[in-house]
Amino acid sequence: MPNPTYAPRIQLLSESTTIAISSLARELKAQGKDILSFSAGEPDFDTPKPIKDEAIRALNSGFTHYTAVSGIPELLKAICAKLERENGLHYEPNEILVSNGAKHSLFNVFSALVCEGDEVIIPAPYWVSYPEIVTYCGGKNVFIPTDEKSNFKITPKQLKEAITPKTKILVLNSPSNPTGVVYSKEELEEIGQVLAGSGIWVLSDEIYEKLIYDTTFCSAAAVSQDMCERTIVINGLSKAVAMTGWRVGYLACKDKQLVKYIDNLQSQCTSNVNSIAQKASVVALSKECAADIEEMRLAFKERMEVAYKLFSTLPGITLQKPQGAFYLFPNIQGVGKFGGDSMRFCQELLQAQGVALVPGSAFGQDGYVRFSFACGIEQIQAGIERIARFIKDI
Ligand code: PMP
Ligand code: GLU
Repeated sequence: MPNPTYAPRIQLLSESTTIAISSLARELKAQGKDILSFSAGEPDFDTPKPIKDEAIRALNSGFTHYTAVSGIPELLKAICAKLERENGLHYEPNEILVSNGAKHSLFNVFSALVCEGDEVIIPAPYWVSYPEIVTYCGGKNVFIPTDEKSNFKITPKQLKEAITPKTKILVLNSPSNPTGVVYSKEELEEIGQVLAGSGIWVLSDEIYEKLIYDTTFCSAAAVSQDMCERTIVINGLSKAVAMTGWRVGYLACKDKQLVKYIDNLQSQCTSNVNSIAQKASVVALSKECAADIEEMRLAFKERMEVAYKLFSTLPGITLQKPQGAFYLFPNIQGVGKFGGDSMRFCQELLQAQGVALVPGSAFGQDGYVRFSFACGIEQIQAGIERIARFIKDI
């Protein structure tokens, strides 16, 4: 028998709850059960045609070999052009690194920065993977709680109080998964003022940048020179261009040494992102896809309005209108017997009505559930009808 002493760090890591619940819903459906899943964090749209055409061209022309670890030059250039054009940020190609999805970019950054015992400040509720990766890297998670009263945003005062000599990174995620809140330029400036003079990095996950409703997006790196230098921008193509399966994400960072270290790390584990996906991503980032992206955003906006309106009528449930991303994050504390136990609520809802939601506890916020409206309006209506029945029956 081989020695069954597994590395302690791997035993600390749990499965991504969002992925686990989406997989469970898919399995139940495959068994013939009548399941409506609102657990998936991915657009239901097909990848726009010009991107697929470019992938086919790349494949047929034999673009099927290793590339530079950090990405092909034309993709690095396209990312620089996108950041300049849309975010007012200037980066050189060697300040960009393309990875297998934004999740991989985040993993690379935490791996390269977090030393044993370093503190990473994470506003809660948070996307499931941040604290897991921080723990895996030997860091300590420091959560800043938020709720409806603060519009699910951290205040400068809270941030000041959370900072200690061990603070290494502040994670920002705007638009946010799961709350859908978007930090304004002024709010980001205030955060920048708190951090000024410190050695704290900002890890700004901007993956939902394109999915905003009645507001404007501002990158954390764009608010001041100081913020630009301390911010590592994380973005990718999964959400904006309906490319979750292609696995393309990237980071932008002014510290070339850090980018080089991450390049070394990636060269020892995954090497480059799939060569064909890289070629297709150049098109995805070009103006050629702007109309497709806007069309999907408008569809998401319409779905959000419908889902928000219907959810608002459910007894015992309160919720805020999201400004971005594709999730509602309703408060279920007023619903019957659950006492805010979001896991029990989701389990019983799945059993009774075949509706899959993600419990807020997965995002560090019990008492809430996440409802993804990245699906058709008919499904949204049918799902909320079932939730209404569930609440009525308990
Ligand atoms: N950040 C957030 C906030 C997300 O919701 C996701 C969704 N998976 C990711 C990063 C990672 O996206 P991907 O790896 O598909 O680029
Ligand atoms: N980010 C998506 C979600 O929150 C996809 C699943 C995952 O990567 O965890 O559901």
